[in-house]
Amino acid sequence: MTLSLGRDILNFMYFYVINEIMKILTHPDKGLSSRSKPVDINDITSLRMKKLAADMVKMMLKADGAGLAAPQIGRSLRLAVINTKDGPLIIFNPKFKKKSLTKEWGEEGCLSVPGYFGEVRRHKKITCEYFNEKGEKKILNAKGLLARVIQHETDHLDGILFIAKARNLKNILDRV
Ligand SMILES: [Zn+2]
Repeated sequence: MTLSLGRDILNFMYFYVINEIMKILTHPDKGLSSRSKPVDINDITSLRMKKLAADMVKMMLKADGAGLAAPQIGRSLRLAVINTKDGPLIIFNPKFKKKSLTKEWGEEGCLSVPGYFGEVRRHKKITCEYFNEKGEKKILNAKGLLARVIQHETDHLDGILFIAKARNLKNILDRV
């Protein structure tokens, strides 16, 4: 009991500290509307990048987000973390190699636009090339929700928020 309480306090303090250092920017912060810079290949495996990616993963999980992009925490870098069923995926410098002609509408929200949800039309399937945290070039074929999250996060790297593309935009606070 004491131990678990102690751990909860530690977790809380850790999140508080991280949250202080890495605040999630919210719309209309200018940092969210500019194009992020590619990460230098030699820099991907640096301790600094490893720490940044690890902190972003922790933040994404704590905030219960499907993904988080570096510009959302004020870093102009082409880096995003994605919550997949197989664990967190870290992608540096993602590029789409293929996008299906078929698109589909689906509901999205964003940690940078708190409370808002709307439907966005996205490619159903994508093939994405990226570098993982070890600096290795990878190819990922994704469909459905994973494809959607990757497109949403890549949009962040180009300074585009989902609200620019969404229909039926709603604020959940208005639903009450
Ligand atoms: Zn977002």
